[in-house]
Amino acid sequence: MLLGAIEAGGTKMVCAIGNENGEISEQTSIPTETPELTIPKMISFFQGKGIEALGIGCFGPIDVNRNSDTYGYITTTPKPGWKNFDMVGTFKREFNVPVGFDTDVNGSVLGEYTWGIGKGLNSCIYITIGTGIGVGIIADGKLLHGMLHPEGGHILLHKLPEDDYKGFCPFHENCFEGLAAGPAIEGRWGKKAVELADNSEVWEMEAEYIAQALVNYTCILSPQRIILGGGVMHQKQLLPMIRSRFEKLLNGYLKTKELEDLNSFIVLQSLEDKQGIMGALRLGMMELDNSCHSAKA
Ligand code: ADP
Ligand code: ZN
Repeated sequence: MLLGAIEAGGTKMVCAIGNENGEISEQTSIPTETPELTIPKMISFFQGKGIEALGIGCFGPIDVNRNSDTYGYITTTPKPGWKNFDMVGTFKREFNVPVGFDTDVNGSVLGEYTWGIGKGLNSCIYITIGTGIGVGIIADGKLLHGMLHPEGGHILLHKLPEDDYKGFCPFHENCFEGLAAGPAIEGRWGKKAVELADNSEVWEMEAEYIAQALVNYTCILSPQRIILGGGVMHQKQLLPMIRSRFEKLLNGYLKTKELEDLNSFIVLQSLEDKQGIMGALRLGMMELDNSCHSAKA
């Protein structure tokens, strides 16, 4: 079965063709300019390929409420041209196949849950720490939504007294994304994160903020595993520091078999940064299944 997948990001649109086993046979990356420039290039990539369904993991906020008039739209992004853009409708009209749609990070957690280190679990979360921070959540075997979808990058954290950086989120002074995404590291220390690899102060502060967030997610969502990805997590020294701060901050409050082994509770993504696009394939497959069932009903 041939499926299409899109990982729609603020800087690039990754488009791929793959199958029901998560195997990708063809992939391309198109810069995210305005919809007028970018969408025709995406459409022409998929044309004539015979896809049976398409899945889109999309930057947000997006409308994932199937009962809403604007289901499938990107809603409030400041990105020029993409505000109130109808992603699902655009591709449905063009290809007339089922189109699955969710956040980019729900796509990533779905990829890991289906084919990666989340396989066999019932509840797990995926956190990307890159240009922004986002959290995708599988709770009780299902992608979590609500009135909208989780916006786990904007949880408020306790700012360290020695940190005088204001945070780069225009809405919150002390949210996780504003304090800890790649641009925050660069803004606080005046150099790109990758150039600060040897400065332990940088990574201790980073690990503290990530660990605070992980304690919050653990207490609220009770995941069986926390999967970390995104550019900042390429700093290999960070993971053990996060585990150790996490243990201190949780302070023995919860006792579960998962928490006994933090090396398997807090882990890195396992699909070589393909979790997002693979998850988008799965979103397409799930939509195809749904549409077959509702056609039979
Ligand atoms: P995006 O979030 O845009 O999809 P990435 O996940 O690659 O893309 O995140 C980009 C951010 O991650 C940038 O802010 C960059 O500084 C940071 N980053 C990328 N590579 C590294 C690295 N090796 N070490 C530390 N930070 C990195
Ligand atoms: Zn914020």
